[in-house]
Formats: sequence, structure tokens, C-alpha cells
Amino acid sequence: MSHTKYFTIVTYGCQMNQHDSERLAGQLKSIGYEYTEALSEANFVLVNTCCVRESAEKKIYGKIGELKTLKASNPNLIIGITGCMAQKDREKLFEKAPHIDLVLGTHNVHQLVDLVKEFEQTKDRVLSVWDEAERLAPDVPTIRKGNISAWVPIMYGCNNFCTYCIVPYVRGRERSRPVADIVKEVHQLGLEGFKEIILLGQNVNSYGKDTDEFGDFADLLAAVDKVETIERIRYMTSHPRDMNDKVITVIKNSKKICEYFHLPVQSGSNTILKLMNRGYTTEYYRELVAKIRTAMPHASLTTDIIVGFPGEDDKHFEEAYDFIKEINFAGLHVFPYSKREGTKAATMPNQVDESTKKKRVHKLMSLSQELELDYMNKFVNKDLDFIAETYENGYLVGHSSNYLKIKAKGKEEYIGKMLNITIKNIEYPYCISKINL
Ligand code: SAM
Ligand code: SF4
Repeated sequence: MSHTKYFTIVTYGCQMNQHDSERLAGQLKSIGYEYTEALSEANFVLVNTCCVRESAEKKIYGKIGELKTLKASNPNLIIGITGCMAQKDREKLFEKAPHIDLVLGTHNVHQLVDLVKEFEQTKDRVLSVWDEAERLAPDVPTIRKGNISAWVPIMYGCNNFCTYCIVPYVRGRERSRPVADIVKEVHQLGLEGFKEIILLGQNVNSYGKDTDEFGDFADLLAAVDKVETIERIRYMTSHPRDMNDKVITVIKNSKKICEYFHLPVQSGSNTILKLMNRGYTTEYYRELVAKIRTAMPHASLTTDIIVGFPGEDDKHFEEAYDFIKEINFAGLHVFPYSKREGTKAATMPNQVDESTKKKRVHKLMSLSQELELDYMNKFVNKDLDFIAETYENGYLVGHSSNYLKIKAKGKEEYIGKMLNITIKNIEYPYCISKINL
């Protein structure tokens, strides 16, 4: 009989969570656990959770329910819950699901090894959820998914308190990582063969504001741009209020930083933007976009939109619809507003009914596809840079530098190479392309 202990991690939510899972996996591997894809084979199942919207929470509680059956057939199975829902619900998770053994908050990710050992010895439930994060959590071993693109957190937490959003409550205040640590990690990733890095933060443009030591986001981008071992740089997410000329200039002057701007506008109505506490107006946003497009005419600009925020009537929604059309985004992420207990918007009057939200989501999703196709069509017969990430049925698949999805006939050995391509035609969601050798 094999004595190998297996773990699996089920991850929900944003890139920050995906990356936390890499740091959790690294720690488990360091104490002898091996990764398995199969839940049924695992001795330890860790669920890394999200609570940004109620729909995510419902799905996760469903998953936790499924694990009860698994535990019934394997009583030695260890079940751990981490991520934003663990931070928010804490001991309530034990009450709702008594088969859970371990609850680990967002500020406690680096403690996993100690807590698993404690549980293995005592078999007593373990809960570790700090209210506040340490300025900088210690480094832990990391096992990265994939070998082409790597996530690098540059800051943690958020100070913005948009009135709908739970993130500042479950991820704490902003903490920037030292430039030197980030540059060192990026350099090392390049040496290990990674081609692209994605700088992560809830609001990357706030980088450095919590300390006098590291300069600002533009300085950081310029420093990372100089790392020779890496070929492509992206970042997410940036808050429109904090995007500035200095950042735009660094991106324009860089060959490596993608001309891709994901700038969540959230609404196209000034009344609603004010209620959301976003700190900008549509006039400001329009001007910002003009600046970006003057500097980089082919830049890709995408956004997040929330529909059905409390008080959003038909007129506000039409304003948002028209604004999105006017800005001519390359794509939208559309979310129905989800009431989050403890946020300011949860107690606002004029909550919008679910069927109205559904209709609005539907309308914006159709618009998003139209806009996406328009943007893609602009690049037919144009040349772009492309990194192939996977190989599927004779096609290399990956993203261009402006983040179009590319499919091109070519050899498998081109995976991970920076290639020049010409886009030939569109087969949504892909741009079918020819490699220029
Ligand atoms: N920090 C990023 C920003 O401000 O752009 C985004 C973080 S949030 C995890 C990702 C997106 O989820 C937001 O841009 C917003 O559109 C959406 N979101 C956050 N809270 C929400 C809520 N209560 N209901 C619906 N969507 C929400
Ligand atoms: Fe949430 Fe706003 Fe912070 Fe983004 S900037 S994480 S939407 S509070």
C-alpha cells in the first residue's frame, strides 16, 4: 500500500486567489503531500473560497456539502477552507458544516504547514483567522500552475471601500511589497523559463501609497520592464481614479508591457458612480480613455460593469449602455449587483429586483460580444506579437500582446516562444492567424 499523502485544492474567484492556491500547494508539497486532480484520491482537500458575489458563495457551500459525502466514505480525510469566505464566516463555517477540520483566513496563508501539523497531531479542529494582516507575510514555497505565465503579487488589500464591495473587509488594508523583492522574483521566474508575468493587486495604481520607501506604480513598472529575463508584462486590476500620465508614458515607452488596459468603470451614470463611491465621473473617465488612445491608438480597453446597483433605474441603465457604446470597449465583464452584508450598499434604498438585473445583464452581454467582434475585426491583416500557451489539434493557442485570443497553425515546439503573426480571419472567440517566420 502506498504511504504517499495526496492533496487537492479547489479554487474559486480572482487571480489573487489562484495565486494563493499556488502558495498553499507549495507548502503542502514541502511537508510531503503530493498533488492529485482527483478528489476521491485526496487525503487533504482544501477549498480556496471567494465571497465577492452571493452566487459564488452558494456554489462553494454546494461544494462543501459534497465533501460531506466524501468524508463519510473516508473518515481520515482532512477538509480545509481558506480564502475570502473563510475570513468572513470563520467559526460559522464549523457550525454550518461540522465536517470541516481547518479554517484559514486570508492573512494566514503562510501558516498552513504549522496548522496541518497541529491538526494531524491533535485531530482537533483548527481555526486561524487574523483580523489584520502582517505588513509583509513571510515567503513560502510556491508551485506554479503552468510554465509560461506567472502571477506576481505587488500589493495586498484595498483601501477604496466601494460601497458594494466586500474585498476591503476580507483582504485588509493596502500593503505594498518592496520593489527589490518583486524585481528579484520576476528575474528568477524568467530564469526558470517563464515568458510573461502578471503583476497582481486589487488596485495596482495604489502601489507604494502605503509607504515612502518604494516609489509609485509607474516606477515599479519601469523597474520590472528592465528585467531582461522576461518578455512580456501585464498587470491587473487598475482603478480609473488612480491611472495617471506617468503610468501611460511608461507603458507607451515599453516594448514588453502590454497595451492592454482593464479599467473597471462599474457604471456609466454619474449618480450611480457617486453612490458607489468610485471617486470619478464619466467625464473624467472619457478624458482618461482619450489620453490612453492618443498615446496608444491600438490599445485594448476592457471594463467591469455592475448592473442593478441600488437606485439604478431605467434611465441610469440607458446612460450606462450609451456610455459603454461611446467608449467602444474591446470587451466587458458584466455582473449583476449582489448584496453583501456589512457593505454600505446593502442598506441603501431602492434595491433592484432580480429579473430587472437579469434583463440588463443580458443586454450588456450582447453589446459586449458586438464590441469584442468589432475590436477583433480591426486587426484582420495586421501583424501582432503572440505567445503560444497551449497546443490543441494542430493549433497553437494563446494571447497577442493586446490580449486577443489567437489560434495559429504551427509546431508544438513553438509553445512559449514570442512569435510574430498576421491575423487572417475571426472565428469567435479566436483570431485565426498565420505565423510569420
Ligand atoms: N479591485 C478591482 C477593481 O476595483 O476593479 C476588482 C476587484 S472585484 C473582485 C472584481 C469585480 O467584481 C469588480 O470590478 C466589480 O465589478 C465586481 N463586484 C465587486 N463587488 C460586487 C458586488 N457586490 N456585486 C456584483 N459585482 C461585484
Ligand atoms: Fe472592491 Fe473597489 Fe477595492 Fe476593487 S477598488 S477591490 S471594487 S473596494
